[in-house]
Amino acid sequence: MDKIDRYADELKRMRDESLYRTMNVIESAQSSNITIDGKDYVLFASNSYLDLCNDDYVKECAQRALNMYGTGSGGSRLTTGTTALHDELERRLALLKKRESAIVFDTGYMTNVGVISSITSEGDIIFSDELNHASIIDGCRLSKAELVIYRHNDMEDLEEKLRLYRGKHGLIVSDGVFSMDGDIVNLPRLVRLADEYGKLSMIDEAHATGVLGSNGLGTEEYYGIEGAADIVMGTLSKAVGSEGGFVCADNTIVSYLRNKARSFIFSTSLSPVTIASAIAGLDCITAERVAALRDNVRYLCDRLNEAGVNVKSDSAIIPVIIGDEQKALDISAELMKQGYYVSAIRYPTVKKNSARLRITLMSSHTKEEIRGLADLIGRYCK
Ligand SMILES: *Cc1c(COP(=O)(O)O)cnc(C)c1O
Repeated sequence: MDKIDRYADELKRMRDESLYRTMNVIESAQSSNITIDGKDYVLFASNSYLDLCNDDYVKECAQRALNMYGTGSGGSRLTTGTTALHDELERRLALLKKRESAIVFDTGYMTNVGVISSITSEGDIIFSDELNHASIIDGCRLSKAELVIYRHNDMEDLEEKLRLYRGKHGLIVSDGVFSMDGDIVNLPRLVRLADEYGKLSMIDEAHATGVLGSNGLGTEEYYGIEGAADIVMGTLSKAVGSEGGFVCADNTIVSYLRNKARSFIFSTSLSPVTIASAIAGLDCITAERVAALRDNVRYLCDRLNEAGVNVKSDSAIIPVIIGDEQKALDISAELMKQGYYVSAIRYPTVKKNSARLRITLMSSHTKEEIRGLADLIGRYCK
């Protein structure tokens, strides 16, 4: 047997099960309206919730940074890769999340992997929600700590498991907004349990920063408990419209991460242009923009419910559960034909037979665009 055959076999199996993946090549900026292969689409699949990737002010700031600092950063953060912009961004993030310090990583993925693997060690326990993002799962896999998975957002189950590991050092980690379901962690309860059982609490704000709370400060603002979690992790790649990941925490944790997190230490830092866009993106997270996003979410949910499709969301992610993988792909293809770009999400991103349309909204979508989408989904999903 040829040594490549096993990979071809696996790919064939994936095609047969409708799990094979391909990429669409986008020929325009990431915004609510995009072009693919010369055809225009309304984009309902992006994580750029505040539509900042193609914002004039953000682009001007990026251009200024480009002219001043050039393109690459030339080294890791601990060698030559820290510019005044990196420093400024970290100060801004600490202020935003009301913490002593912040540290920026190259991606959100690298943040979770670096943080979880460095703050836990052999003999520790990590308590992780069963629907946490893959980057959290991979951070747990890299850690030498024991892993305990609790049922999705089920604080009774978490407490039951905490009781079994009394006295051990550990971490409770959860998405703030769950990336494929759009629901929100029961943070007040999670933080109380963490304090009661002496564990660190960590939330991943990838889909919450710029979305939840009246100023878009995230899950803590949504519940009115700012400063509650021990470690707040987030990304600059979603609502902020740039790239990168970050952690906000007290000085000790952040200094520890600077010295111990391998994905921070052993990778070239982000380009000053990317950092400048992130700072400008933070400037653009205003109560008005966040309210416009929330208004669009409510509008879409109302229209879909009227059309007989049951949905509910407090975040910018609205899942329409289809079940069958091929059916989800077929509906997504039909929407594409009509000029609406909506992703079909399948195993292994979600459980088998829970394939879904994952609709994401932007603050800039018009009511006409949203109504058009809701009408079609109502027709295809009945
Ligand atoms: C997208 C995402 C990440 C990874 O962030 P990137 O900046 O894209 O690497 C981490 N956690 C969650 C919950 C996410 O949705």
